[in-house]
Amino acid sequence: MAVIEAPFSHLFSLFAVAIFPFAHPLLKRFDRWATPVLAVVGVAVLLLETRHPLRRRTRPRSERWLRNLLLAAPSLPAMRLTLLPAVVGLAQLAAPHRPARLLAGLPGPLRTTAEVLLLDYLAYTWHRLLHSPLLWRLHRVHHSDLDMDLTTAWRFHFGEMLASIPYRAGLPALLGVRPATALAYEVVFEACTAMQHSNWRLPLAAERRLVPLLVTPRAHGIHHSMVRAETQSNFGVVLSLWDRLHRTLRLNVPQCDLTIGVPAYPDPADQTVARLLVLPLAPLEPWARPDGSVPERAPTTTSLLELAADGNC
Ligand SMILES: [Zn+2]
Repeated sequence: MAVIEAPFSHLFSLFAVAIFPFAHPLLKRFDRWATPVLAVVGVAVLLLETRHPLRRRTRPRSERWLRNLLLAAPSLPAMRLTLLPAVVGLAQLAAPHRPARLLAGLPGPLRTTAEVLLLDYLAYTWHRLLHSPLLWRLHRVHHSDLDMDLTTAWRFHFGEMLASIPYRAGLPALLGVRPATALAYEVVFEACTAMQHSNWRLPLAAERRLVPLLVTPRAHGIHHSMVRAETQSNFGVVLSLWDRLHRTLRLNVPQCDLTIGVPAYPDPADQTVARLLVLPLAPLEPWARPDGSVPERAPTTTSLLELAADGNC
């Protein structure tokens, strides 16, 4: 029996290393450069949101931070040990095949631009898929946070990280995105995720310049609203372009009027780490508060910038 099992386990480990080469030189370089860059971004975001808060907190920071960091504890290593190695491993496996060579004919800067746009569009579409009934089981762990700040950016169920591998590592590999570009984009992705989930009141002049191009904390705050139509908007991660193209951009909600979270889970006492870890297995709740009422808001034509200029967050 052992004679039969040994070659099989050897083949399996070869297969696993081909898909997840977690000690690949590109990943070692990622560790050397990306980790300190993202640590600096994290500290900067933390200082900015502490000194210039955007929305009033509804819960003590310590209560949410402990919970969010405990949820991040398996998710961040899962990203380093599975998603990032899969970006490299799947690109190597796909490289000889025809679809993966389509972008290779483009001149250098044009190819890099096409790769980055493709990666950001895939991030947008993956986020839209996370709001479909099946994947919402995982993604609601992130959305059920009752306030938003830097730690919300790390509050993901590790299952969501694993579920993203075919889409966020497999598709770019199939479409010929080079792993070095994908890893560099991942640094931008993580930095923008930290910034857009933060509670930083971006100065109005900066908001005016940035929001036509990038997803800002005010724009992403609207995505975390308890009003369903608002949650179903602003899916972009880095560029706001995709929300504009797909008409999912919504910038007309004052931050002071936002209630952050998922209406079915308004009670912080229900949000223990253990319950959040098994939440993907729980049945889907209707989009309503436990008393059956549905959060709603009257539509307005006022833009985010007009609202912010009125001192309305
Ligand atoms: Zn979302």
